[in-house]
Amino acid sequence: MRKNVIAGNWKMNKTISEAKEFIEATKAKIPSSDKAEAIVCAPALYLTELVKLTEGTDLKIAAQTMHYEESGAFTGEISPTALKSIGVEYAVIGHSERREYYNETDESVNKKTHAALQHGITPIVCIGETLEEREADKTNEVVGGQVEKALEGLSAEQVSTVILAYEPVWAIGTGKTATAQQANEVCTFIRNVVKEKVSAEAADAVRIQYGGSVKPANVDELLSESDIDGALVGGASLEADSFLALVEAG
Ligand code: 13P
Repeated sequence: MRKNVIAGNWKMNKTISEAKEFIEATKAKIPSSDKAEAIVCAPALYLTELVKLTEGTDLKIAAQTMHYEESGAFTGEISPTALKSIGVEYAVIGHSERREYYNETDESVNKKTHAALQHGITPIVCIGETLEEREADKTNEVVGGQVEKALEGLSAEQVSTVILAYEPVWAIGTGKTATAQQANEVCTFIRNVVKEKVSAEAADAVRIQYGGSVKPANVDELLSESDIDGALVGGASLEADSFLALVEAG
């Protein structure tokens, strides 16, 4: 039985006082259950403070990106070693916004996924097609390629612990959610790619989230699908009540 993962990706939002207020309003209300994991992906600047604030609770804190090197001359970047040293347990890798605006490539996603796992950080690896690619019937080709490249060189055991987030680019921040059936179709396809390229056990264990305009009103339907194991949520994760409703649905 795979455990659902509900992750709120705040992106570049909130001041430190707003971030702390959100955590104080939610941390004690996260149901401690074997059913779902609850994660907030916060701006790097707040990670130290939010990790401390959530200590001993069921709310976990993730970074929104990281570098693949352990240290060195990479001005402005954050290493997996640094994240680990402040107690961060998850990192989003290869979000479509990073791919679009910050030169994230399949190769850097692969290096970062390796680095995260080597440092005991669970990577949340994002994949997804653009509208143009979907309309040209290239969804499987694009998403399959991204998955294969992201996981290249990992052992089946490592892949079993990865979280994949299928986020069709056309559904992010647009209010256009993929239908539950559309989303599940691609998640099933992704699981089959893992089965073919890695192993049946890894395919069975790997968690696959859906992301793109998820909100309390559509989360139940999405989570009821066979191959969707959670949600990566942007806009609807910014308000405490809405985030809690999503976590409860998980
Ligand atoms: P929205 O939920 O705002 O569409 O964002 C999705 C996303 O990009 C989460 O990483």
